[in-house]
Amino acid sequence: MNRRTLRDPLALLLTSALLLGGCTINPATGSHQLNFFGEESEIEMGQEADAEIVASVGLYDDPLLQDYVHDLGMEIAASSERPNLPWSFKLLDDPSVNAFALPGGYVYVTRGLMTHLESEAELAATIGHEIGHVTARHGVNQMSKQILASVGLGVASILDEDIADWAFAGQIGLGLLFLHNSRDDERQADDLGLRYAMRAGYDPRQMSELFNVLDAVSKVEGVGRLPNWLSTHPDPGARRKRIEEEVGKLEGDFSNARIERDSYLERLDGMVFGDDPQAGYFEGNAFLHPGLRFRIDFPDGWETANQQDSVSAHSPDGEALVQVGLSDKETREEAEEEFYAEEGLSQDRSWENKVHGLPASWSRFEHSEEGSELRGTVAFVEHGDGIFQVLALSEAASWSEQREDLEEAIGSFAHLDDPRALNARASRVRLIRLKEDMTVERFAKEFPSDAPIETVAMINHVQPGGMLKKGQLAKRVVVD
Ligand SMILES: [Zn+2]
Repeated sequence: MNRRTLRDPLALLLTSALLLGGCTINPATGSHQLNFFGEESEIEMGQEADAEIVASVGLYDDPLLQDYVHDLGMEIAASSERPNLPWSFKLLDDPSVNAFALPGGYVYVTRGLMTHLESEAELAATIGHEIGHVTARHGVNQMSKQILASVGLGVASILDEDIADWAFAGQIGLGLLFLHNSRDDERQADDLGLRYAMRAGYDPRQMSELFNVLDAVSKVEGVGRLPNWLSTHPDPGARRKRIEEEVGKLEGDFSNARIERDSYLERLDGMVFGDDPQAGYFEGNAFLHPGLRFRIDFPDGWETANQQDSVSAHSPDGEALVQVGLSDKETREEAEEEFYAEEGLSQDRSWENKVHGLPASWSRFEHSEEGSELRGTVAFVEHGDGIFQVLALSEAASWSEQREDLEEAIGSFAHLDDPRALNARASRVRLIRLKEDMTVERFAKEFPSDAPIETVAMINHVQPGGMLKKGQLAKRVVVD
């Protein structure tokens, strides 16, 4: 957890845009398109955003599964129109059902997606779809559009713009994720995904199953650090219907095509399901982090976000922010020095005051930059083996009315010693080979899960009341 140095991603991208503007031929579709970016800067753009995504979301800690996703992706990408990109396929430690791609060949699937799928053919269709966004250069077009929008209209955001600059400084990658794909882009990626998965020998009929999953997920509230796939991939029902029509037109016999159901499900055994409490969780406005053994109380009614490298909350009007991160410095003095080394930032007054018995250096600061005036308070707190940076800030104009509440939030930082929180464990997927047909309700009764019946039905691809078949592997989720 570390707040990164402020920099201006937009300025960097604009420079490349001015240097590299022009018309290119789309490699996957053969048509002409207007593009600001050449392939080299496309790769560079992806590479930079990739580092941000890995740092803020985190990779799922299982080398075998990482290799599996990577190898499957490489096999599918090899048959695409851009086999020579530096492709990378990563499994993210995030419970939301999600997959996305960045320009240059960076493709991600979440553990949430994997636990909701039932076969390698479904995963191949998902990865094929994301490869399609890359080969058709959709992300690059989006980046071009984003730059135009930013220049012409200002950045639309719930957060106050100055606060957003602060909170998301450097996070180009996450900015990209909030972009919506157009319906045309989605149709094209679906068609390309189908083409690539088939070239790799997978059964194209499994692709519609993928949309069934997404349709079911869309009816449930999403969890996780990432926005749900559905926010960038609208209307899975309509897409399923269209892809089924496309598949219906295909010639050929798919009875021997690859599905890989059991071998896929066996890989899921032991995989974390849902939120992992060890990575921090909310109880009302309190945030508890058993892994790092701290807690903090954010103001009531604030919007919260738990990322790999920080946890933050912002006021409903978006004009104030509280953020906790872990410094990479070893002493409070070094951490404070690094913080104030930033341009535009000046220290007001400073004092020493323990927070719940933990040694802490407090100071107030002002930050001015191109018409933006922020005021805030930061405390560097010694806790465990590390120095925590706990800060609160607001627009200068509202600082005097916000200050008391914000400093109270900083002062709520405390050592976490509640054994119930410290011992909280994640649920994991476990597999049962069924000895007879049974309803999903009977399955849940005989092999209980730490999840509602709707969830158990959804991850087993049946409706409540639906039948699971003799001999199949069925998923349950348990804390063990
Ligand atoms: Zn898509």
